Parts: sequence; C-alpha cells; structure tokens
Amino acid sequence: MKIAFIGLGNMGSPMAANLAAAGHDVTGYDMAAPAPEGVTLAGSAAEAAAGAQVVITMLPNGQILRGVAQEVVPVMEAGSVLLDCSTVDVDSARAVAEMAASRGCGALDAPVSGGIGGAAAGTLTFMVGGTDDDLKIAMELLEIMGGRTVHCGPSGNGQAAKICNNMILGATMAVTCEAFALADKLGLDRQAMYDVASTSSGQSWSLTTYCPAPGVGPEAPSDNDYQPGFAAELMQKDLGLALQAAEAVDSPTPLGTEALRQYTQFVEEEDGQGRDFSALLPRFTSRGRD
Ligand code: NAD
Repeated sequence: MKIAFIGLGNMGSPMAANLAAAGHDVTGYDMAAPAPEGVTLAGSAAEAAAGAQVVITMLPNGQILRGVAQEVVPVMEAGSVLLDCSTVDVDSARAVAEMAASRGCGALDAPVSGGIGGAAAGTLTFMVGGTDDDLKIAMELLEIMGGRTVHCGPSGNGQAAKICNNMILGATMAVTCEAFALADKLGLDRQAMYDVASTSSGQSWSLTTYCPAPGVGPEAPSDNDYQPGFAAELMQKDLGLALQAAEAVDSPTPLGTEALRQYTQFVEEEDGQGRDFSALLPRFTSRGRD
C-alpha cells in the first residue's frame, strides 16, 4: 500500500519503519525528526499524503492533529483513510472524522497502548473508533504495527476506551504506591505486602505487572531507577483528557480528579518530569501525611 506517515517521533518512527520493513511504500513527514529506516521523507504533510491510500498520524495532541488534518484532508483521494494513532481528546477525533467524511474519505481513531517497546516490536494494542469498512482497509497495517485490535464502535470511541482505561491505570497506580508507602511505615515488608495483595482483592496490573516497588514482582521501571516506561507527564496528559471528556458529558470522576492532581503536582512542582509514572512511590515514602 502507499502510505503517508505524519509524526515520526518516539512512537511514529518505529511504527513507520515496521510498515516499510513489511514492504509498504511509506512516505513520512515530521518537522523535526529524521527519517526512519525504509521511509522516504516529504517536504510537507500534504506532499506526503498526496496519493496515499492510508494517511497515518502519530502526533502530540488534538490541536496539532486538527491542524495536520486541515492540511492533508484536502489532498486525500476519495476512499482513502485517515488513521490517527495519537492519543487526543474525543472531540478532536470526531471533528477530524467529520472533516474526512466531507471529502468522501474515511477516518479511524486508533490510539495505542504498549508504549515505545510495543511500537518497536510491532505488538501495540489498537483501540479503534470508526466504521467496519474503514477498519477493513486499515487492518492489514494495524496487524503489522500491533498484536491486537479492538473495534470499540463509531468515531471517537477508540479515544474514549483509551482514556477510560488510563484513568483506571492512573488511579490504581497512585493508590498502589500509597499502599506500599503505608506498608513501609507500618513495618510491613514490601515482599510480604506484594505476596498478599497480588493474590488477594488488592490485585491489579499496576501491582502484579508493573510493581512500583523495586525488587518486588516482575522487572519494571522501578527496578531501573524509575526511567520510563510510561512517563508521569504522559499519565498527566491522559488523565487530563479523561476529565475533559467527563466534564463534557457531566460524568463524575472524583478519583480521576485526585489522580490528576497528584500527577500534576508531581510533574510540575516536584521532580516528576521524565520519571516513570510509578515513581509516585518514592515520593509518598519521603512524605508525611498531607
Ligand atoms: P513525540 O513527541 O516523540 O512525537 C511526536 C512527533 O510529532 C514529533 O517528532 C514532532 O516533531 C511531530 N510533530 C509535531 N507537530 C507536527 C506537525 N504539525 N507535523 C508533523 N509532525 C509534527 O511523541 P510520542 O511519544 O511519539 O507520542 C505520540 C502520540 O502517541 C501522543 O499522542 C502520545 O500521547 C501517544 N502515546 C505515546 C506513548 C509513549 O509511550 N510514548 C504510548 C501510547 C500513546
């Protein structure tokens, strides 16, 4: 397939390289990043998108996505598909889908989980919003870039799934860190706390797959001095998107709101920028009760 790939950063670069390695004709554009292996660089997003059957975007936020869509949709051919893999707000995903539809083009929002490691290994999970027909066109590419694709419903629903999942993740990680800090102060050994909670009702992915306590459970960023992994500022971004969506539909998010407050403080007022999101644990152990 002839593919355009806009946004060749930490995630986009290995994803585009995997498509090229699988034999697709990939033209990329990024105002800052170099060309991934096998990808030809264009001078603009519109130049990359001209004549492409699928235009993939992997960009920082919804505002940038809307700007890029305004550039590329006018040059896209009817029947081609705009496949956005960025994590953006639900409204931007739906607005971009409408923009594409007005030109007779398809659009899918397909945010990912799996991080940079998953992007390089081609094992990302895609959460997709859009029509069956558009998904059929993009499926071959999603199968190269990822290991699993879940069709979540119409446009915007991929983003909805992503932010709901990450709101659960942010809140469970924060409370798991808080529980380890409390265990320390109660004189409870971390391994004992893990052995109990990982096989009891306190069990979660944050505890058993990504344990915030170094040396406990399987290897995780906590064992590597909290190098990300999944950076605290990305969790802050995703919680912000979840709360923005919740406000728009008047849905209560008391725990999501508190998790965002904790991550914002950690990133903006403490040393959280660039650290893994599980580094809330050393932050809590060094504190008294707020
Ligand atoms: P990144 O900052 O490394 O890459 C974004 C790229 O977009 C940059 O290279 C930037 O130069 C480029 N860009 C910005 N504006 C542009 C424009 N107008 N035209 C062309 N290129 C432009 O970010 P990333 O880590 O690759 O993340 C990309 C998206 O994936 C984000 O929405 C992020 O939330 C999401 N995501 C990231 C991870 C992760 O672990 N990094 C995991 C899941 C989802």
